[in-house]
Amino acid sequence: MSDLQLRHVGTPPAAQRVLVIGAHPDDPEFFCAGAIARWIAAGTIVHYVVVTSGDKGIPEDWTDPRPFVTVRENEQLAAAEELGVQGVTFLRLPDGEVFDTLDLRAQLTGEIRRFRPDIVLTHDPLTRLYRQHPDHRAVGAAALAAAFPASRLATFFPEQREAGLEPHTVRVALLFGTDRPDTFIDIAPVFERKLAALRRHTSQASAFPGGLETRVRMRAREAGAPAGLELAEAFLWVDLE
Ligand SMILES: [Zn+2]
Repeated sequence: MSDLQLRHVGTPPAAQRVLVIGAHPDDPEFFCAGAIARWIAAGTIVHYVVVTSGDKGIPEDWTDPRPFVTVRENEQLAAAEELGVQGVTFLRLPDGEVFDTLDLRAQLTGEIRRFRPDIVLTHDPLTRLYRQHPDHRAVGAAALAAAFPASRLATFFPEQREAGLEPHTVRVALLFGTDRPDTFIDIAPVFERKLAALRRHTSQASAFPGGLETRVRMRAREAGAPAGLELAEAFLWVDLE
């Protein structure tokens, strides 16, 4: 990549509270479990908001009689627990039908005002990696709109203040699934933790043809190469202050 810029390389940037906003169960682990593990090891409190409960991702050979949404939410909770994440909020929008609506922005603004993160991690809504789930673009766009400027201005969704949610300023957004990475987190020390968390998404094993470890290791190698890291997760840094 000729226009590569290195904004931040190595350990995750210092933060007291990090909010991960993903479209589906397993997006937080797939895109950033390594960074999350390193943040938690450093004492950072991490919380997830998962917008859909992945109800379209049913494997062909699925015979489990339990409602699929319950299975995926339980898998997401187990993966989060594996990493030491404080909690998961499920918004339960229909999988595959997410749009960047005012209502979704309001819900995400409320979550930001409730948790009060320094850093928000979400999907890059403008990536030109076109083989991209449309929910990822929609969630990234709505999350960024919530992080800036909605959550900081009391004039956005004023009913939230009446409910006790004060405005909050997010310092930085880190966007995953980006085609313009400038922030590279070294995940070599926690790579096994990332695999362990991903393995908790048992129903999604078929999403990793060739085996989960092989696929995830290949992705982490590719992500780290521009920054000279063996295994990395890559993000685009967005200053919001
Ligand atoms: Zn997804």
